[in-house]
Amino acid sequence: MPETNTVIPLHQVEAQPFDEPRRFKVYTARQLDKIEPLARLDEETRFAMEVVANVLPFRVNEYVIDELIDWDRVPDDPIYQLTFPQKDMLAPEHFERVATAMRGGVKADIKAVVREVREALNPHPAGQLEHNMPEVDGEKIDGIQHKYNETVLFFPSQGQVCHSYCTFCFRWAQFIGDNDLKIAAREAGQLKKYIQAHPEITDVLITGGDPLVMKTRNLRAHIEPLLQLEQVRTIRIGSKALTFWPYRFVSDDDAKDLLDLFDDVRASGKHLALMAHYNHWQELETDIAKEAIRRVRASGAVIRSQGPLLAHINDNADDWARLWQTQVELGIVPYYMFVERDTGARHYFEVPLAKAWTIYRDAMKQVSGIARTARGPGMSSHPGKVEIQGVTEINGEKVFALRFIQGRNHDWVQRPFFAKYNPDATWLNHLEPAFGEDQFFFEKELAELEKQ
Ligand SMILES: *Cc1c(COP(=O)(O)O)cnc(C)c1O
Ligand code: SF4
Repeated sequence: MPETNTVIPLHQVEAQPFDEPRRFKVYTARQLDKIEPLARLDEETRFAMEVVANVLPFRVNEYVIDELIDWDRVPDDPIYQLTFPQKDMLAPEHFERVATAMRGGVKADIKAVVREVREALNPHPAGQLEHNMPEVDGEKIDGIQHKYNETVLFFPSQGQVCHSYCTFCFRWAQFIGDNDLKIAAREAGQLKKYIQAHPEITDVLITGGDPLVMKTRNLRAHIEPLLQLEQVRTIRIGSKALTFWPYRFVSDDDAKDLLDLFDDVRASGKHLALMAHYNHWQELETDIAKEAIRRVRASGAVIRSQGPLLAHINDNADDWARLWQTQVELGIVPYYMFVERDTGARHYFEVPLAKAWTIYRDAMKQVSGIARTARGPGMSSHPGKVEIQGVTEINGEKVFALRFIQGRNHDWVQRPFFAKYNPDATWLNHLEPAFGEDQFFFEKELAELEKQ
């Protein structure tokens, strides 16, 4: 393997040997007892894990288990927290109800209790289902979300799983096999039609789950029609494959085809952005992860990174500074730091907005401007993506300074606004307008948009 931080000229990339393929082996909730390193945990911890895995999605592959988790640091290891269910991820009363049903051993009871608990966990935050669901020829279509003018989100139906699942994922409801909840595409053709009917769209964000669980030929079938559309300038793929399965870009059967597809997008004059989901610098440490990054970059795609700030995983400035600095050295552009959304196990992972901003700022202070490209901390909330710009005092009142990075109305973009300081607030709906105003500037308009 070459010295991974050095830049390898494009013409030499082809000459790099493709490694032996690695078999993708994955464990789900039913196979918890087959995961060898878990044997070192006590029985109570393992039972708790089973209880939580009954409610929240669990799926982890062998690469993550063997190479990303430092088992000597369990339970504190961040990648262990990222992938393995922990007792406190469920509220005590929810945990007890599921545990009791499991001890009772009656399948129908377990199922009923699990369903109720899931319902209580806000499976679709920020109105993901009711709102943003577009129409083509008067017919509502699944698999497309269009919230912000320039960017349409596309969820191909074959891309609704991931190579492993994150314990905090806000899309968790899609993974639990509930078809009513599943947002999935019926047809790639509908996407093209929809874009053509909306000239304001310049970006398509293919997301999931993880669209890179798809075979390249399926992904190509979705992407190629977009290359014919002049209005589409950027194609983004949201993925955590660089972390969970870097072999996807190196030694899988169709790894080379995937890189060729990226190159075809570039050759068509469009930008291909791989929106890589990262939470911790530990995800970037293995040779295969670095090799995958190198190959993606050599294909002409640009890797941008985003991920939430999470208690138990990355809630300190040093880890963020190291994450961003490492990314810069590997040629990845830091893009967003998110606030954990109001769903699933959020009480376990949530960080107060005030603390999130302090962590962001303290991390920024440790890196140069080159690594300060990540905006945040940002909340993907119902009215838009709202960034916490800081905590300050105006006329003796302590306030949060906020701004829209994206807004349901694009005229809200970049508008600053202020909320009363509240040290415990963890989401936008916990905030009240500052300076005695009775509502935020966007609320009236939002209510009107809602009626439409
Ligand atoms: C974040 C987001 C986008 C993309 O926004 P950018 O600021 O362009 O990265 C598009 N649609 C939705 C629903 C989003 O949450
Ligand atoms: S990779 Fe993304 S979509 Fe998949 S579980 Fe993690 S956060 Fe959710």
